[in-house]
Amino acid sequence: MAGGRDGGAGRKLVFLGPPGSGKGTQAQILAQELGVPAISTGEMLRGAVAAGTELGSKVEGIMNSGALVDDDTMAEVVRERLARDDAREGFLLDGYPRTLPQAETLAGILADSGGHLDAVVLLDAPEQELVDRALARKRADDKEEVVRERLRVYRQKTEPLVGYYEARGLLRRVDGLGTVEAVSARLLGAVS
Ligand code: AMP
Repeated sequence: MAGGRDGGAGRKLVFLGPPGSGKGTQAQILAQELGVPAISTGEMLRGAVAAGTELGSKVEGIMNSGALVDDDTMAEVVRERLARDDAREGFLLDGYPRTLPQAETLAGILADSGGHLDAVVLLDAPEQELVDRALARKRADDKEEVVRERLRVYRQKTEPLVGYYEARGLLRRVDGLGTVEAVSARLLGAVS
C-alpha cells in the first residue's frame, strides 16, 4: 500500500522522541511503511562530517559535545532538503525540529508551499532505559556524559515541542517500550 491513497502519500510527519528512544530505527521502518522518505538531520550532519564539507567542520565539535547546532544552520539544511522532489508529497522528519524556533521555521517552510504538518509522533520511554539503550550503541558521541548531556538538552530545548504540538492538535503519543516489531505496529496505528 506504500505510496497509495491510504498508504502515506501526502503524509507530512514529524517524529519526536528523546535520544535512545529507538526513534532512528523506527523512523526508517515507519517511513518505508508509509512510502515517504525518512529525513534524519542527525544522519545528514554526520554525512557532512564524514564528507569533510564546510557544514561538517562547523558542526563536528558541537555534535561530539551533545549540544545542538544553531537554528539558522539547521533551517538552511532542512529548507534545502524539503525542497527536493522526493519530499514533495510527504516525509517523516527525524531529529527536526528540536527547538521551538525550529518548529516555527518548519511551519513557515511548509506554509511557503501551501502545506502543513499532518501529525507529530512522540515516542517515549523512561530515562534510565534511554541512557542504557544509547550506551549500547557505539557512536563517537555516545560516551555516558555526552548521552546524559543530550538527554538534558532534549528535556530543556526539545520537550517544550510536546506542548506546542499538543496545543495544535497534532500530537500522537506512542509507548516506546517493547520489541521493535511491537513498537512499529503501535506507530503505524498512531498515524493511520
Ligand atoms: P541525532 O542523530 O538526531 O541524535 O542528531 C545528532 C546530533 O546532531 C545532535 O546531538 C545535534 O548535535 C545535531 N542535530 C541533529 N539535528 C539537529 C537539530 N534539528 N537541531 C540542532 N542540532 C541537531
